[in-house]
Amino acid sequence: IEFEHCGFPATLSGNLKKAGYEAPTPVQMQMVPVGLTGRDVIASADTGSGKTVAFLLPVVVRALEKPTHSASSPVALILTPTRELAIQIERQAKELVMGLPNMRTALLVGGMPLPPQLHRLKSSIKIIIATPGRLLEMLKQKAVQLDKVKIVVVDEVDTMLKMGFQQQVLEVLEQVPEERQTLLASATIPTGTEELAARLVRDPVRIAI
Ligand code: AMP
Repeated sequence: IEFEHCGFPATLSGNLKKAGYEAPTPVQMQMVPVGLTGRDVIASADTGSGKTVAFLLPVVVRALEKPTHSASSPVALILTPTRELAIQIERQAKELVMGLPNMRTALLVGGMPLPPQLHRLKSSIKIIIATPGRLLEMLKQKAVQLDKVKIVVVDEVDTMLKMGFQQQVLEVLEQVPEERQTLLASATIPTGTEELAARLVRDPVRIAI
C-alpha cells in the first residue's frame, strides 16, 4: 500500500508528508490497512520499525469519526510501559494530528508531577497516552473516564510483562468497553506475552515483521 491509497483526510496526508513519511515501512504496510478495518491486531514489531505510526494512523482515523454521543470523553487510549516511550508517542501523535479539529492529546505518565496532567484533563481530550500506574491512579481519583474509548493500543507488551505491569494493564482495560478495537505491539511474543495478549484481543490478525 501507499499512504495515498488509505483514504486519509487531506490534512493527515499532508502531515505525513511534512513529517517525511513518504513511503510506509513494512509494519505500516501490514498494520495500517488491517487496523483501518477495525480488526484487532497482534504485531511483533520492534522499536525502529515504524510501529508507532503504524498504530497511530488507525487511532487518528477512529478519533476523527463523528462521535455517537455528545460527551467529549477520550476515544483512544495508548498504553506504553515507560515515560520516555510515552513522550515519543505523543510527539509523533501531535505531528499527525496537527491542524485536525478537536484532537487534543494528554500524556498521563508517572515520574512527572500530577497537577499539570490533571489540569490538562479539564479540556476535551481525544487521545490519552499513558503508563499503566499513573493512569490507574487517575482512574481511582475519577479524574478520567474510559467508557467512551473505542480503540486501545498496548505498546511493548513484552516490556510491560518484564516490568511487572500485567495486572495494572488488565485493571485499566477492565474500564474500557469490551466493544473496542485493540492493537498490540511487542518486539517478541514469548509464551507469557501470548497469554496476556489472548486476554486483551478478540479474533486478532497477526502481523510479524
Ligand atoms: P518507531 O519504530 O515507531 O520507534 O519509529 C522509528 C522512527 O521511524 C521514528 O523516528 C519515526 O519518526 C520514523 N518513521 C516512522 N514511519 C516512517 C516512514 N513511513 N518513513 C520514514 N520514517 C518513518
